[in-house]
This record gives sequence, structure tokens and C-alpha cells, in this order.
Amino acid sequence: MINVSKLKKGIIIDHIEAGHGFEIYKELHLNDIDDVVVLLKNIPSKKMKQKDLIKIETDLPIDMNVLGLIDPNVTINFVKDGEMYKKIKLTLPKVVEGIMKCKNPRCITQHEEVKEIKFYLVNEDKKQYRCEYCDAYTTFMEKE
Ligand SMILES: [Zn+2]
Repeated sequence: MINVSKLKKGIIIDHIEAGHGFEIYKELHLNDIDDVVVLLKNIPSKKMKQKDLIKIETDLPIDMNVLGLIDPNVTINFVKDGEMYKKIKLTLPKVVEGIMKCKNPRCITQHEEVKEIKFYLVNEDKKQYRCEYCDAYTTFMEKE
């Protein structure tokens, strides 16, 4: 159904949880890419009932940490010359730098300009991360 061979180069982000596709689109700033980007929503899937899928025809590097934070269960397919040559499964990143913000109102990072704050994974199920400055737990996605 999804014709991979039509994509000459770039990546296909597959097995996105239905509804997360647009989140990924936003967080990866795909709107700013001048190349072809296709977002498919609510595709019937045997394994997941429904899934989202994104095709990006670009040579630009994709931030896998951001992807892993939003949806650690996605599969990334790399395409070159119309052929899929590499496939990786994502996991939650152990350390995240420069992507998340601390939500603790007393944290120093709320009052002073601190860039590239490091967060360390503490709970894989809850996707919780610990701020390196105040040790408060935080998550990347609000609703989780
Ligand atoms: Zn903090």
C-alpha cells in the first residue's frame, strides 16, 4: 500500500502511534524543509490497528533524540537510490541535551539563561527524565 520505491532518497518514519505523526512533524520542524514531506495519518495496520507514517525526501540529518522522546517505538527506514538500505528501531534516549526544559519553578534554569541542560532518563515506562541542576523529574510530552 505504501510505495517505498517512489521515495528516491531520505527517510521513512514508520510505526508512529496514530496521532503522534503531527507532533513529530512539528518537533522535527519539517515545515521548514523545502524537500518533499508526506505525513500519512491513521493508516490501517495489522500490528497497531492504526498508525501514522512520515516520508521525508531529504539529505538533512534528523534528530533521533527528539523522535525517540515523542515515540520510542517508531521504525526508521533509510532510503537511497530508491532502495531501503538501513532500518533502525528507536529507543528512549538515556541522556537528552538541549531539547527539554525543566518544569520546576525553583530550578535555576528558570531564572538564569542556561542552555543545553542535560536530562537523564530515570523511568522508562513513564518517560521521566531528571534535571541535572535540580534533580526534578520531567517529561517531554505534556500529556504523558
Ligand atoms: Zn531543574
